[in-house]
Amino acid sequence: MTTERFDAIVIGAGPSGNAAAYTMAKAGLSVLQLERGEYPGSKNVQGAILYAKALEELIPDFREDAPLERHIVEQRVWMMDDSSHTGMHYRSEDFNEEKPNRYTIIRAQFDKWFSARVREAGALVLCETTVTELIKDTKGRVIGVRTDREGGPILANVVVLAEGVNGLVGQRAGLHPELKPKDVALAVKEMHFLPQDVIEQRFGLKGDEGTVIEALGTITKGMAGTAFLYTNKESISLGIGCLVADFARTGETPYGLLEAFKNHPSIRPLIAGAEVKEYAAHLIPEGGYKAMPEIVGEGWVAAGDAAHLVNAVHREGSNLAMTSGRIAGETIVWLKRRREECTGANLAEYRKRMEASFVLKDMKKYKNVPVLLHERPQLFNLYPRMLSSAAQEYLRVDGTDKRSKEGRIFAALRRDRGLSGMIGDAVRVARAWR
Ligand SMILES: Cc1cc2nc3c(=O)[nH]c(=O)nc-3n(C[C@H](O)[C@H](O)[C@H](O)COP(=O)(O)OP(=O)(O)OC[C@H]3O[C@@H](n4cnc5c(N)ncnc54)[C@H](O)[C@@H]3O)c2cc1C
Repeated sequence: MTTERFDAIVIGAGPSGNAAAYTMAKAGLSVLQLERGEYPGSKNVQGAILYAKALEELIPDFREDAPLERHIVEQRVWMMDDSSHTGMHYRSEDFNEEKPNRYTIIRAQFDKWFSARVREAGALVLCETTVTELIKDTKGRVIGVRTDREGGPILANVVVLAEGVNGLVGQRAGLHPELKPKDVALAVKEMHFLPQDVIEQRFGLKGDEGTVIEALGTITKGMAGTAFLYTNKESISLGIGCLVADFARTGETPYGLLEAFKNHPSIRPLIAGAEVKEYAAHLIPEGGYKAMPEIVGEGWVAAGDAAHLVNAVHREGSNLAMTSGRIAGETIVWLKRRREECTGANLAEYRKRMEASFVLKDMKKYKNVPVLLHERPQLFNLYPRMLSSAAQEYLRVDGTDKRSKEGRIFAALRRDRGLSGMIGDAVRVARAWR
């Protein structure tokens, strides 16, 4: 394919790969980026919320031409049972700021835009090119890649694994273990198209304002998982995901959950009359810090989903991907300027910088949460039902005096040790949060 030796090869053109390639190309390094999709974004699935700060650190003026949908002014968190939801809404005019903090985006468009910036910075980006294996020297150091295109190996001083969650290249080279079903969620997503004014009326929005809904409860049939609904300009992204191990255990299907979520009485009116145009499924690494593979080795670093950098509690992934890609790129640029080789010992600087960033701090903070949630199906079935019936009892005006109503509510909450269990679980979750 080429006899040139690159400073760096980046595998993948998602947020982490683009951030790494952009950082290195902008600093003048020779960068080859390989993407198996027809175009960057063609293989990617995301809700999607873009967290501005991570992109701003790379491209401060991104708001001028990036394909952004709506800036988020309202967040709803719903705990759902079969016919109701108990919700918390936060909406603020303060989010209508000059430089909004969170946006909805459509990944196919966004990744294409980001990739154009990577090319402008000077990287060579080849799409429809799948990396099939890493090449190592006799000492086991990664020195390049082989692809499915004709031609020999392509060599580089360092390879950035930004190939996403199902990192087959890293696995085949023995750098990363195979994904475990308990550490990875399978999410499905649909795009529902509606006229702009209909979306704005339904959600009480004006201009580019947007609302997002994050939901949990009986919609995941007792499995640890969440659902989401995000407003774009002329569409609504809607999806749901649970751990692969739980799907295998219960026999539930992602599509079955999505159908039930769409037909829930709280969701159905929000998407009524919409035209469904896209259906996609994707894995999400949700095992947290304890399931993270190595992120540095001889001649290679891993970023984004390939390094399992997802904060499932806060629904953040793309910002961890961009930040880790940027830090990987900055470390490689730093080594190049010091004329130091990309050995494992020198690349350990990447790990050090990651430890100092919010990425690994947040991953560590929630390290006990995945197991905790997985072991407590009651969080997803019993407690949402308890809250719903308590709210209903309290709100129904039916001639019963209030003291009797409160008595009924507490009796129902205490049944099956529901209340003490809920308090105990709240304490355990709060401890895991610290
Ligand atoms: C349904 C869903 C909703 C989500 N919602 C959000 C959200 O709202 N906000 C958020 O921040 N995060 C969200 N995430 C997580 C977020 O999408 C990921 O964390 C993020 O995309 C990771 O970026 P990445 O670049 O590491 O990997 P990816 O985006 O997966 O990119 C990897 C790229 O590598 C390419 N590739 C893979 N193998 C090869 C190969 N062998 N050769 C060449 N190219 C290869 C792929 O085609 C792909 O383009 C969501 C994820 C899902 C599935």
